[in-house]
Amino acid sequence: MKSEIRNLKSAQPCPLVTYDPALIEALVRSKVDAAADADQSWINAYRDELDDIYERSPEERESLFASLDRRYFQRVGIPAIVEECLAERAGALPKTCNVTMLSAQDRSEEGADVNRAGQMILRFRTATLADSEKFRRRLRREIVQAADCFNPEFGHAPELLDALLPSERERIRAALTLLWALTAQIRLCAEEPLKTGATAQVEKERLDRLAADLRAALCGDAHAPLAELLQDLPARPPAFGRMLEFCRRHAGSEAAASGICDLCRFPSEDVQTLSVLPDNVRRALTAEFTSLQNMSHVCARCAERSAI
Ligand SMILES: [Zn+2]
Repeated sequence: MKSEIRNLKSAQPCPLVTYDPALIEALVRSKVDAAADADQSWINAYRDELDDIYERSPEERESLFASLDRRYFQRVGIPAIVEECLAERAGALPKTCNVTMLSAQDRSEEGADVNRAGQMILRFRTATLADSEKFRRRLRREIVQAADCFNPEFGHAPELLDALLPSERERIRAALTLLWALTAQIRLCAEEPLKTGATAQVEKERLDRLAADLRAALCGDAHAPLAELLQDLPARPPAFGRMLEFCRRHAGSEAAASGICDLCRFPSEDVQTLSVLPDNVRRALTAEFTSLQNMSHVCARCAERSAI
C-alpha cells in the first residue's frame, strides 16, 4: 500500500520553478555575510571560487558569478524546500502550473499569488528564507491557498474586493487574508497526525495565533457565524465569495457594524444594502450618487427621498 502511494505521488509532475536571479544573489550574499552562524566550510569554499572568478576576464565574470550563486542557492536548500512543498500539493495544482519565485520588498508582499495566466508567483524576503523551518511552514500554507485558487468550487475572485467602498476595503482585505490563512492552517493541522509531535505543536500554535488575530480584526462577537462558516473544514474550505461576505459583515465596516448610512452618514436602525432595494429605488439612487456600489448601505429616509 505504501509503495502504491509513493508511486502515485511520483506520477504527479512537479511544477517547473523559476527563481529570480536577484533573489538567488541576495540570499547567497546574505548567507555569506552571516558567515559566523553558517557552515564555515562552504563559506570558505564559496570565497575561494569567488577569488578564482576575479582572475578571469571581465567579460566572463558575470555569467560565472551567476552560475556560482545558482549552485550555492541549491546548497542553501531553498529549491529543495520549494519542490517538497509543491510535491505535497501536486494533486491539487494544474499539471501546466509554472511557478516563479521573486524577492518581496516587505512583509506585506510575501506569499503566493496565482495570476490570470495561471502562473503561481511566490514572493519572499531573504530574511524569511534564512530560517528554513519557518520558510517551509509558511510556504506549505501559502501553497494550500494557491491550490484553492485553482479549484473552481472555491471561486477565487479577488476583483470582488475592488467593488468594496474605499473606506472599508483595507479592513475587509486584512480580515479576509487572516480568515483564508486560518482555513489553510486548519487543513494543515488536520494532516499533522502524520507528522512528528514537535511539528504538530508548532502548527497548532500558529493556528491559535491566526484565530486570535482574526478575532481581533472582527467587530463584536462573530463566534457563531465563524463556526458555521468553518464547519465543513478540513474536508472543504468555504468558497471565496462566502468568506468575503462574512468579512464584509463582520470585519469592522463602519456601516455594517453600526448601521451608518453611506449617503447621510447618520446611524440608523433601518440601513439596507443597495442590492436588496427595489429596482426603481436603486436606479434613482445610483443615477444621483454615482459612487454607490451594490454593497453600499442606505437608510430608509435616503431611499424614500430619492424615490420621490
Ligand atoms: Zn441616509
